[in-house]
Amino acid sequence: MPRGLDPPPVETEKKSGKLVAHEIFRNTPDDVPRKRGSSPEGRVSFPEYEELLSDRPEKFSQEEVNYREAEGEEKCKLCFHFFTQGGGDRRTVCEIFRPSGEDESVNPGYVCDFFTKDSKEYPLLEEEDK
Ligand code: SF4
Repeated sequence: MPRGLDPPPVETEKKSGKLVAHEIFRNTPDDVPRKRGSSPEGRVSFPEYEELLSDRPEKFSQEEVNYREAEGEEKCKLCFHFFTQGGGDRRTVCEIFRPSGEDESVNPGYVCDFFTKDSKEYPLLEEEDK
């Protein structure tokens, strides 16, 4: 291995004046949650993080977007706004529409008037509605 790629010995790093990870965390204020691998500077607090997660954004209802069973080739599963949530139950959701049932998934075979593949073309909207 070329000498330049050798990892610096720990002793050399300390002598050079750099702080190693445990020394950085020792120097952070007590009110900053400490966790290995994270940077305390500019980070939000844990209550702010929890508040963000609890704030479910408003979304349109079924009637407002005319959500319905698809008859043509346009379907939710091909839409720019459709995605599958991770986790065990693999729910499918939409960025702009929320079904009325609390844990109801967006049906991949349904569609609404705001279907779009690329957020530029809206084939199910009339020109005057754009
Ligand atoms: S077609 Fe409508 S309901 Fe379906 S994913 Fe797209 S925006 Fe959401």
